[in-house]
Amino acid sequence: MRLRVTGVVQGVGFRPFVHRLATSLDLHGTVRNDAAGVLIDVFGPAEVLDEFVRRVAIDAPPLASVTGVAVVPDDSALAVADGFRIIASDDAATAAAAITALPPDVAVCDECLAEMRDPADRRYRYPFVTCTQCGPRFTITRHLPYDRPTTTMAGFVLCPACQAEYDDPTDRRYHAQPLACPTCGPHLTLHTADGVVAERDDALRGAQRLIDDGRIVAVKGIGGYHLVCDATNATAVATLRARKGRGAKPFAVLVADRAPLAEVAAVSATEQSALVSPQRPIVLLRRTPGAAGWPELVAPGAADVGVMLPSSPVQHLLLDGLGTQVVVCTSGNVADEPIVTDDGDALRRLREIADAWLTNDRPIHSACDDSIVRARGPMMVPLRRARGFTPLPVPLASDGRAVLAMGGDLKGSLCLAVGRQAFMSQHLGDHGQLATYRAARQAARQLVDLLCTTPAAVAIDAHPGYLSARLGRELAGEWGVPVVEVQHHHAHVVSVMAEHGVHGPVIGVAFDGTGYGPDGTIWGGEIMLATAASVTRVAHLKAIPLPGGDAAIEHPARTALAHLWAAGVEWDPHLAAVAAVAPADRQVLRTQLERGVHTVATSSMGRLFDAVAALAGVRQRVDYEAQAAIELEAVLDPLATGAYTFPLADAAGAVDCAPVIRAVAADALAGTPAGTISARFHSALVSHVVHQVRTSACDTSAGTGGTVVVLSGGVFQNAWLADACEAVLVREGCTVLTHRLVPTNDGGLALGQAVIARALLGGNG
Ligand code: ZN
Ligand code: ZN
Ligand code: FE
Repeated sequence: MRLRVTGVVQGVGFRPFVHRLATSLDLHGTVRNDAAGVLIDVFGPAEVLDEFVRRVAIDAPPLASVTGVAVVPDDSALAVADGFRIIASDDAATAAAAITALPPDVAVCDECLAEMRDPADRRYRYPFVTCTQCGPRFTITRHLPYDRPTTTMAGFVLCPACQAEYDDPTDRRYHAQPLACPTCGPHLTLHTADGVVAERDDALRGAQRLIDDGRIVAVKGIGGYHLVCDATNATAVATLRARKGRGAKPFAVLVADRAPLAEVAAVSATEQSALVSPQRPIVLLRRTPGAAGWPELVAPGAADVGVMLPSSPVQHLLLDGLGTQVVVCTSGNVADEPIVTDDGDALRRLREIADAWLTNDRPIHSACDDSIVRARGPMMVPLRRARGFTPLPVPLASDGRAVLAMGGDLKGSLCLAVGRQAFMSQHLGDHGQLATYRAARQAARQLVDLLCTTPAAVAIDAHPGYLSARLGRELAGEWGVPVVEVQHHHAHVVSVMAEHGVHGPVIGVAFDGTGYGPDGTIWGGEIMLATAASVTRVAHLKAIPLPGGDAAIEHPARTALAHLWAAGVEWDPHLAAVAAVAPADRQVLRTQLERGVHTVATSSMGRLFDAVAALAGVRQRVDYEAQAAIELEAVLDPLATGAYTFPLADAAGAVDCAPVIRAVAADALAGTPAGTISARFHSALVSHVVHQVRTSACDTSAGTGGTVVVLSGGVFQNAWLADACEAVLVREGCTVLTHRLVPTNDGGLALGQAVIARALLGGNG
């Protein structure tokens, strides 16, 4: 019998598992990797073969994800074997033929950790210990099939002891591609401005002394460099903030397994399992109110703090020997550039930030930031999809042409849809920096190389100024394929539909900061009727003129003044937002608004959040995207009563924000607490959504199958709003779909773009 096994079956100990299973059942034959997955030739009595087929699927190793076990009808190539053998991977010929999922990077396993901490083991304190069940995968792989020569470990020649493990089917390191030991593998070095100052264990101890002394050390990890300092040392954290030019933006922390997390945050069972999962993402935890100490240092003013547990052996060793149990562990980059992976780059670009570099000689082929997730009830949802998840594909409900989608300019991420799978790139950072452009170009090249597919089209955002779109046009030109422009909020909505395998029509609620509308204004408060191929905007916030356009995003106070002006409310200096803008600047703003010069029309929900946050006195200037909205949600008083009211849409579908702005301003002037204003505004939004959905469902008589509502866009990172909208809509009898696999922010945009482009292109192959 010849069997074809598909799914994530390479680099996860699958062939040794097949070998053990076959041997235990006394079956003969062979197993091999090829570009389509795993191919098994097996001989034995029919009933034992049935047992074998059944157990191949259900007993597979934990990291494997078997999507299919099929008997290959043409068994003419079968050759009778004696015993059971593992055959080395076939080469490029088969690699070109088909698609195999490459496994993501996996946190070090318990068995490897135990060896690393055992003084009698030959890998005692060895920071590159790994086996078939753990270690780097995606970040070290140059191309498929996944095998040692195609990884960045190719340059390390196995010593006899490692080679013996690699060749022994009964060993847990049998064909573990990144296998290494102190004799033959990579090593740590510690650099300072003076050059290399220590190697191996001395390098590690040197880095620990520096961190304990309050210094900042750049540490090379699985997918790039991190900047690390003592999170309990206020001076160290402040220095890192200042050097990174980061303002108040929260830092993620890396926490020792033994650290008492419960003192600073309530950790649910769902969150705990995410923390210890093989992906080891940053988990956003709700801070315990009033808990002092490091959470306020690393995430000032935020309701959540981002926490991760050590995932690589280096991180374990580092934390094991530190005075503190909590270190800041933030991407080693400048501002919103991509994470640094190259050793020379790290020394140059992080020179102004780091005091020292704890590095090693294992090259990183693909940058991969830490993933960020948050619990929504019993479910974990991604806010940033990268290490541990990339390049796991999102399964698609239907086939279509190969399309590369470029995503947006913020939270850049690409998507290559091939067959029934959509491969998302890692998070690439914000466009606008040369480094992000390079990273996006490299990620595009890498997706195409890994999957041996040249796209039939490139999908881009319709914004004429987007750099991601410009890169998409360049790539399409190089490949000689068409470009498909996709409207931003249509892409958001279809991205959710793609995750759920839904064709629509659905009612899409797309709330976010910035997205280019076909009328040339900035959209972001949309209710749409959508399928993959078509979209109708049924309701939206009434546009207001915003002086300075995108520049206003940094100044919620100015956005508040624009909203007040549009609502006909006087700029009373008793309002915090008005007081925050200097009188002279107010005069300039007023002139711009009255004459309509240097203004951009926007119907963005993100800007409405900014305006309300500023009016409530929560935030007048932001250091990072969505800070005002995040803080407005954080102050929401769940016990507050009352709600503002959005009016009904006019004949053109426009919903005037003026009544809400007037009510917010009146409350603010009356001294109503920010938590109450926030609660009343959030409640108003939920009613607005429910009302619009109800009206749209009637208008379109969406059929008898019930109304399907999709929530997407960056505003739905707001957990309170997403939960409340979902709960009320479900009570109304709607089916509510939200993101589970890709982020609801622009990091998930590319998935929707790819699916829309396919629908518009039509055809297969
Ligand atoms: Zn392991
Ligand atoms: Zn070795
Ligand atoms: Fe967006």
